[in-house]
Amino acid sequence: MRKKSLQIATEQDIRKGLTTDVYFDRTVRILKRTRASKRVTAEFTVKSLPEGYTWGVATGLEECLALLEDIDLDVRAVPEGTVIRPREPALTIEGDYVDFARLETPLLGMLCQASGVATKAARLRLAAGDRTLISFGARRMHPAVTLVIERNAFVGGCDGVATVKAAELLGIEPSGTMPHSLVILSGGIDQALLGFDRFIDKKIKRVALVDTFGDEKFEALAACATLGKDLYAVRLDTPSSRRGNIRDIVKEVRWEMDLRGHAGVRILVSGGLDEIGIMELRDLVDGFGVGTSLSNSRVLDFAMDIVEVEGEPRAKRGKASGAKMLLRCSKCHQDYVIPAGSRARKRCRCKGRLENLTVEYMKGGKIVRRLESPGMIRKRVLAATEWLTL
Ligand SMILES: [Zn+2]
Repeated sequence: MRKKSLQIATEQDIRKGLTTDVYFDRTVRILKRTRASKRVTAEFTVKSLPEGYTWGVATGLEECLALLEDIDLDVRAVPEGTVIRPREPALTIEGDYVDFARLETPLLGMLCQASGVATKAARLRLAAGDRTLISFGARRMHPAVTLVIERNAFVGGCDGVATVKAAELLGIEPSGTMPHSLVILSGGIDQALLGFDRFIDKKIKRVALVDTFGDEKFEALAACATLGKDLYAVRLDTPSSRRGNIRDIVKEVRWEMDLRGHAGVRILVSGGLDEIGIMELRDLVDGFGVGTSLSNSRVLDFAMDIVEVEGEPRAKRGKASGAKMLLRCSKCHQDYVIPAGSRARKRCRCKGRLENLTVEYMKGGKIVRRLESPGMIRKRVLAATEWLTL
């Protein structure tokens, strides 16, 4: 019998347009036969944001460019990690419509999911303040999208990611503590920690998971007694059904560890956290591991719309025609969407300097601008969190 394969589209499938919606296939067939295809400008925007958000973080551009490279198209976009609001042009493609029509589905998928995760990560970062924030969400999604989730969690503001391959992509060390299985099979937290300390590289921080068999307080104290000053942190991953008041439990653990001279041992919390859960604990906790709320973050609903045909403004009802560019005030962060190519005003109403955020990335299928590293994109998001609010 033939071996079963995973249910994933290969990169070649995606490039060939095999993951497209069939109506684009049919449209291309018709337009080729009728010779009705024309040079168009198509714009990617969100009409609204999920959950009442007032801003989102646009990411996914690098993958979009990878998909479009060598096709005779021009691409303008806001740099990855740029904060966007409804009806602002995040990405614009100019070229013969049939040359990219079949890529609309995968392009939207890339932008929507990447930006959704980055937006959630930026929100979690705002909630966490200067506390450590690690993406633990890979296990909640299909492994074929692990890199997308973790890369965008990181650029959106997480400090680290849990999976090996994503960390490799980002050029950082993967972050992890210990699973319950290690404690269960070792026979207890003491033996688990001793095994960890003996066989795992010394540069990896020693973090004890303290809620496997016993009460968090007693397991935390046992961990402190076992490793002493070599213990970096304890992690509480208490399932919500047993949790009770997690704030009280964390306080108690902190108190008991401090009392016995372990004030330097940090407390990490994971398990079902979102913005609110993080804000409720951030004064007591040193770091958070966030899973489901990050990987299952709401996508940003980008749509692609034609706004120009052969250089003439033309758009469907409800959509402003003509190519556009996005300006933002560097002082009050007010946005201005203006016609592309028009003489950009230099000053905001507040007299602040206006910055043009729409940048040319591709000309005739060639990438004409150096793409930023994940670390640089992350810096842009972190700078924005200085003025953004939840
Ligand atoms: Zn201003």
